[in-house]
Amino acid sequence: MSLDLAQRLAQIRQQLPDGVRAIAVSKQFPPEAIREAYRAGVRDFGESRLQEALAKQECLQDLPDICWHFIGHPQSNKARKILESFQWIHTCDSLKLAQRLDRIAEEESCTPKICLQVKVRPDPQKYGWRVPELLADLPQLNQLEHLNIQGLMTILPLGLSEEEQFAAFEETRKLGFEIDQQGYANLKMQEFSMGMSGDYPLAVRAGATMVRLGRTIFGERNP
Ligand SMILES: *Cc1c(COP(=O)(O)O)cnc(C)c1O
Repeated sequence: MSLDLAQRLAQIRQQLPDGVRAIAVSKQFPPEAIREAYRAGVRDFGESRLQEALAKQECLQDLPDICWHFIGHPQSNKARKILESFQWIHTCDSLKLAQRLDRIAEEESCTPKICLQVKVRPDPQKYGWRVPELLADLPQLNQLEHLNIQGLMTILPLGLSEEEQFAAFEETRKLGFEIDQQGYANLKMQEFSMGMSGDYPLAVRAGATMVRLGRTIFGERNP
């Protein structure tokens, strides 16, 4: 017999150390699935498409204490709406986008929580900073006073062995320590958003503080 959502969640929670948050990635799942997870105690939900997320948020207005996490590539013409509708943006992936978010955050008088998306392994399929470019952009990122930059986010390329995955997660965590030591007042490096259904146990061992779980919580997505 297959487990239901609450049982799957209980299993995941047992595996996560204190202080590691599971973000329930509800993309491609309906509002009823979010409700079911909510009833099981989940408050953090991740969505990667703005329009899809807005439609669900509309249906779920009676659940005001949900914390919404944006985990897709933020298109610049949608940045304002994303800031209005999400408390967290895990996928700030360029200086230009960060500067735009900062300007809008000032206009909207909000201080969104932000992770900087970094590619510790080359991956032409993905957005994000390569490490040398991120290091070069730190002084300018530090000036963005309306962003609450909390840490780093990474998505690994496909096809790595478990050892390679663990090494890449550890490097992300070490990069955070390294940035922290540079003492930038506006760059906190306390959150590490890394690990998905396929690789989260390794990410947690390497020091993830947020894991983004879709299929392990909600089941397989319909094609
Ligand atoms: C879809 C997605 C996830 C969750 O993927 P699962 O394999 O379903 O756990 C996590 N992070 C990002 C950025 C995603 O787009």
